[in-house]
Amino acid sequence: MTALLKVDGLSRYFGGLAAVKDLSFELNAGEIVGLIGPNGAGKSTAFNVISGSLAPSAGRIQFAGQSIEGMRPSQVVRHGLARTFQSATVYPAATVQENLYRGALARFDVPIWAQIAQTASYRSALRKVREEVDEVLEITGLAPYRDDVAGALAYGHQKRIGVAIGLATRPRLLLLDEPAAGLNPEECAEFGCLLKTLRDRHEISLLFVEHHMALVMNTCEKIIVLVQGQKIAQGTPDEVRNNPAVIEAYLGV
Ligand code: ADP
Ligand code: MG
Repeated sequence: MTALLKVDGLSRYFGGLAAVKDLSFELNAGEIVGLIGPNGAGKSTAFNVISGSLAPSAGRIQFAGQSIEGMRPSQVVRHGLARTFQSATVYPAATVQENLYRGALARFDVPIWAQIAQTASYRSALRKVREEVDEVLEITGLAPYRDDVAGALAYGHQKRIGVAIGLATRPRLLLLDEPAAGLNPEECAEFGCLLKTLRDRHEISLLFVEHHMALVMNTCEKIIVLVQGQKIAQGTPDEVRNNPAVIEAYLGV
C-alpha cells in the first residue's frame, strides 16, 4: 500500500534552532494518527511545513503520490490536505454558515474582491458548495447554529467551527492542531466520536496534535512522539504508553 502522506527527513530551522529535525513518518489512508509531545516539541511547526504555511529547511513531503513541499497552502488544500489552527480562530463576526463557505470556496479561484462584489463566478462557486456546506453542518452538529454569529457561540462550538471549515474544503486528510484544547471531558468524548465518524463514514484520514491523552489513546491507531523536534517513538497507543523514552520525556525522570 502506498502511504497517503509520506514525510521523509523533514527539518525546519529557525536560525540555529531545529524546531523539527529529520522527521520521517507515513500515514495510510483511513488512519487516525496522533502527534504528541511536550510544548515546544515542534508539532505545530511540523503542521505548518506539511500544510505549506512554512517552507521546509530540508526533506520531502509526498501526498497521494505527489510531491507537495514548496506548494502554497491554497495549492495543498486543493490537493486534498487541509489543516486547522491551534487557536479557535474562526471569522468571529461572520455566521457559522459563512465561516464554512469561506472554507468551501478555498478550492475555487475566487478572489476576495469577487466574493465581496458577488460576481457571477462567485455565485456559481457558491451554488456548487451549498450542499457540501449543508452536509458539513450536519456532520459536525452545527446545523442548529448555522445563522448564529460565530464569535457569540460557546467555546466548544467555536472549536468545532474550526474543524468544520477544514472539512468544508473536502479534504482526504485533515490536520488538526489541538482541536480539543479547553474542552471538558464530556465534550472531549463527543469530539472523539466525531473524529471516528469522519474516518469511518466519510473516508477522511486524520493527523492530530492533542494534549488530552485519553482522547489520543482512545482515538488513534498510531501515535508519533516528538521531543525537541525529533521523533523519539512511534507505535500503537499501548506501545507508546509503555515506551521508556516516552515516559522519561513526559515525566522528566
Ligand atoms: P509545539 O507546537 O510542539 O508546542 P512549535 O512547533 O510551536 O511547538 O515550536 C517548536 C519550537 O520552534 C519552539 O522552540 C518555538 O519557540 C520555535 N518556533 C516556532 N515557530 C517559530 C517562529 N516562527 N520563529 C522562531 N521560532 C519559532
Ligand atoms: Mg503547537
